[in-house]
Amino acid sequence: MRRFVAPLALTLSIALSACAPGASPPPVSATSTPVVTATPTTPPKLIVAVSVDQFSADLFAQYRQHYTGGFARLMTGAVFPAGFQSHAATETCPGHSTLMTGAHPSRTGIIANNWFDPASPRGDKPIYCAEDESDPASSARNPVVSAVHLKVPTLGEMMKKANPATRNVAVSAKDRAVMMMGGHDIDAAYWWKGAGFVTLGGRELSPAVQAENAAVTAELKRGAPAIAAPAWCASNDHAVNVGKAAVGTYRFDLAPDKPDQFRISPRMDGATVDLANSLVDEMQLGKGPATDVLSVSLSATDYIGHATGTEGVEMCIQMAQLDQNLGRLFDHLDSLGIDYVVVLSADHGGLDTPERADEQAFPRAIRADKSLMPAELSKAVAAKTGIVTKGPLLIADGPFGDFYVSREIGPDQRAVVVKALVATLKTNPQVAAAFTHDELAVTPMPAGNPQDWTLKDRARASFDPARSGDVVVLLDRAVTPIPEAMPGMYIATHGSAFDYDRRVPILFWRKGIHGFEQPQPVETVDIAPTLAQIVGLKVPDGTFDGRCLDVDGGPGNTCEANK
Ligand code: ZN
Repeated sequence: MRRFVAPLALTLSIALSACAPGASPPPVSATSTPVVTATPTTPPKLIVAVSVDQFSADLFAQYRQHYTGGFARLMTGAVFPAGFQSHAATETCPGHSTLMTGAHPSRTGIIANNWFDPASPRGDKPIYCAEDESDPASSARNPVVSAVHLKVPTLGEMMKKANPATRNVAVSAKDRAVMMMGGHDIDAAYWWKGAGFVTLGGRELSPAVQAENAAVTAELKRGAPAIAAPAWCASNDHAVNVGKAAVGTYRFDLAPDKPDQFRISPRMDGATVDLANSLVDEMQLGKGPATDVLSVSLSATDYIGHATGTEGVEMCIQMAQLDQNLGRLFDHLDSLGIDYVVVLSADHGGLDTPERADEQAFPRAIRADKSLMPAELSKAVAAKTGIVTKGPLLIADGPFGDFYVSREIGPDQRAVVVKALVATLKTNPQVAAAFTHDELAVTPMPAGNPQDWTLKDRARASFDPARSGDVVVLLDRAVTPIPEAMPGMYIATHGSAFDYDRRVPILFWRKGIHGFEQPQPVETVDIAPTLAQIVGLKVPDGTFDGRCLDVDGGPGNTCEANK
């Protein structure tokens, strides 16, 4: 690490050699102290890839003025406030699948958190993105966790292939985040289940994980007091009625033996960071002969966003705690003297709960009408076409996304159902667009500025011919696809094709790079090609959908440095 501060002599010798023989060196102002920075030209020893689940560009914009911990450091690096998860299905699994592969979901194959194969024995039972359903013990609700559905390698896997000494490690509260960021070939993979961290089938928990689980078990047993809200949370701190409950003032006091209360709190991120730090020590990450990869997906922002929305005191407290937790992660790596590069981004953005949006000058935010639920649409289409099936006529995971027509009926009748479904949807003011499978299959993959992509382009980037539905439904802007807010259940969400769900910050930091802010849109598929160049990984042309971003704002060029 120190070696990137030291090469003053090197910097000067380059400056001098650039001068014509006999010319004087450039004058140095006597009144200013020259800042000694040198762009690192050797690969770092560790990539730290952080995903903050549901961390929208809007949250970053709202809270960046208050950050003093890990975010404050990241903001001295390369700041891209308008990163795009460019695709339509802005869910956790697709979003995480883009971060370390450099590929859109149309190529990663991860079109949604859950999809269906009506022709398989599963029928109307969902297939979970991070399960291996060929294992009879697996179900979407209790999956045998696997990356088998991910059709492309992750950066860590590509690096391991190039140099088997690379270690590829991923931790999160969510199994799907671990599998999508780590991929098929993971040296250590841990996620939260029930009341502790678990790992892949057939593997043991390492001593570091056992120790973290023991610490969490003790905390769960005794509970914990409320978390103080910073003074700058005052304007967020008021109750809003949502269905039969109220949100907006909760401070995360933890009752004993409430693991779910723990999970939906900043403490979940704290435990994830503690585990990441312990794994760095245990595996000596960043100290080996090759560059290692540590993926850390912090899930609490998402859990809190779903449970309480994005504009209450709960999210405000979480933003402060997240900043501190990130600081602990980076401080630990600093204390070990590891030369690391960080990227932080998110799998998708999010939208506040419509009841508070209504109070806060966004009255058009509404909940989806129950008539859009798959069972209701099935009834409407059956009435319209006279086509009746024993099982559900239409299969879907909710009131939007991929809709599949039952395979109880043949292709001719299915075509009739598709036509009737699209016609029904198009009369609904809450539906922005409905595209058929055939339509998306002939739509070219979009390119150019993701901000300007049409809705069909966005749907195309989420489309996989073998996995996508017969009809893809996009709800209109600000329609929350949760028809009814039930106490204790999710009240707010993401998943739309609009920019509040697509736009996420992308922040790069490494000691020695010249910081800058680039407000123009970039994409999350740019992250993997950018890191590949920084570590000097050579990949065949066409490996990535994204491009290398030069994350040194000065004369250095991180897209050229290690070619
Ligand atoms: Zn997510």
